[in-house]
Amino acid sequence: MPQRIKGTVASPGIRIGKAYVYQTSKVYIPKYDITVDQIDAEIIRFEDAIRKTKEEIKSIQGQIATSLSKDMADIFSSHIMMLEDPQIYEKTKELVRSELRNVEWVLNDTALDLMKGFSAIEDEYLRERILDISDIHKRLISNLQKQKVDSVSLANLKEEVIVFASDLTPSDTAMMNKKYVLAFVTDKGGRTSHTAIMARALELPAIVGTMNATSMVRDGDTVICDATHGEVLINPTPELIEEYTRYQEELRAMEIELAKLTSLPSLTVDDEEVFLYGNIELPDEMAVIKEHGAQGIGLFRSEFLFLGRSLPDENTQFCEYRKVVEFFNPLPVTIRTLDVGGDKIFSYTNEYRERNPFLGCRAIRFSLENVDLLRTQIRAVLRASHYGTVKLMFPMVSTVEEIVRAREILDETRDELDRAGIPFDHEIAVGVMIEVPSAVIAGDLLAKHSDFFSVGTNDLIQYTLAVDRISEKVAYLYDPLNISVLRFLKQIVVIARDADKPLSICGEIAGEPIYTMLLLGLGFRHFSMSSASMNQIKRIIRAVRIEDCNRLADELLSMEKAADIERRLMEVTAREFPWLTL
Ligand code: PEP
Ligand code: MG
Repeated sequence: MPQRIKGTVASPGIRIGKAYVYQTSKVYIPKYDITVDQIDAEIIRFEDAIRKTKEEIKSIQGQIATSLSKDMADIFSSHIMMLEDPQIYEKTKELVRSELRNVEWVLNDTALDLMKGFSAIEDEYLRERILDISDIHKRLISNLQKQKVDSVSLANLKEEVIVFASDLTPSDTAMMNKKYVLAFVTDKGGRTSHTAIMARALELPAIVGTMNATSMVRDGDTVICDATHGEVLINPTPELIEEYTRYQEELRAMEIELAKLTSLPSLTVDDEEVFLYGNIELPDEMAVIKEHGAQGIGLFRSEFLFLGRSLPDENTQFCEYRKVVEFFNPLPVTIRTLDVGGDKIFSYTNEYRERNPFLGCRAIRFSLENVDLLRTQIRAVLRASHYGTVKLMFPMVSTVEEIVRAREILDETRDELDRAGIPFDHEIAVGVMIEVPSAVIAGDLLAKHSDFFSVGTNDLIQYTLAVDRISEKVAYLYDPLNISVLRFLKQIVVIARDADKPLSICGEIAGEPIYTMLLLGLGFRHFSMSSASMNQIKRIIRAVRIEDCNRLADELLSMEKAADIERRLMEVTAREFPWLTL
């Protein structure tokens, strides 16, 4: 029996090949005392190493900018900034002088302290910055000792392999010889690490967070890396290899088939137009979204510009928003204001832990408590609106008062910009996310204060059913097909239609093929999702008739139990779309 290891999919795909266990080189840290006379020479040695390290990082950046994208190359700008950070640069020199220890010793202690501090942080994105520190640390120490870091890197592979590593730094990933790396698997890491982001941009299948893959696999073992289901199979039987090879070929054939759809319109058989938009967390993802034929961005989760970094000021935010807005111009970009709280812990909110974070000071509630942050963000969004079509959206609105107050702040900010002569789109559309039951129930009133609605089903399901969306214990209750959820969805479609407000849906179910006919039947015509789902959803749209979808939705709405609804939906989906793997 093959061994199976589970992990998190960082980048999807299936690859079969030989394992290569990458031992990240352990750098040797010499430790010795120095005399006062040696201080200057030691500091010069440190400054030389810093200079050399910066040159190396810039050269990697150059390579990535040409082979990948400028955004990916920008990841390394943070490495250069870290080298200039007083916490590292000044502090190291100060400690060499005051403690009379050699630079490697001092640097090692500083890096360990920094990493220890980061590892205690709960926010996943921040925690994963440890890898960036370790990357720089390794380079600096090697340059102090005039060793070549990349002599042991993944750039020197000679045959195709699936790389296993405890963890990979962004430069490990960037320097990989793409010709020979089929996929990679790491013990540590999550979806938000820079390594995972790069794997997606490289379209390299990757599984992260397996905990112990490196201790279970040996160099040369045959492995199947199934990064569609997040599973690694070590030394599979010939039958399994055959099965997965077939599956891999099917996936490839399907991708080729689906890719042909990108330039085709998303029209149903009876000519009803359905609009597909992308969900993004960071501007890095915009190019892939556009390549998939999206008609704009339906959800820009702006909080990812805030998580794990110091507070971005107005200009930093403006530049990031403008980048996306100009790129999509004239297609719309819907920027959602900061949605922190719940599972997205932000350093600013760290001191105060709530008992029920999902029911606490989250999303628009947080923004209205921290009005200065909100004003800064709105100013940045408004300024970006001058460069294309921007829509501004507020998350988790649960009362009319909240949208009224948010709009007052928006109006004040507009006046400020007008007085300062700063251009922006005066017609900017302002919307609310429908994510809590109260927003559905009072939807007609919210409609009076907003220009559009976007349904966030990820949260709407959790709040409708009182099920924590990240709890494994009650996951069985978290069901998009619960009749209460379906009734809410129908209700909001009717409210939006009556109020003549555009309505979209941007929760995960918008990108899951099994729900497409149902959502069309309920009346949704604007879907926002991640790039990976877009072609599949378009293929379904192009194969259905609205009247069949309507009939199906009516039938499902007349049922009681989620299990029965699911069974019926699976039956119809399997019959209509036999090419889908359900
Ligand atoms: C949602 O709740 O459906 C949504 C799109 O927002 P998020 O997943 O970011 O909470
Ligand atoms: Mg939400």
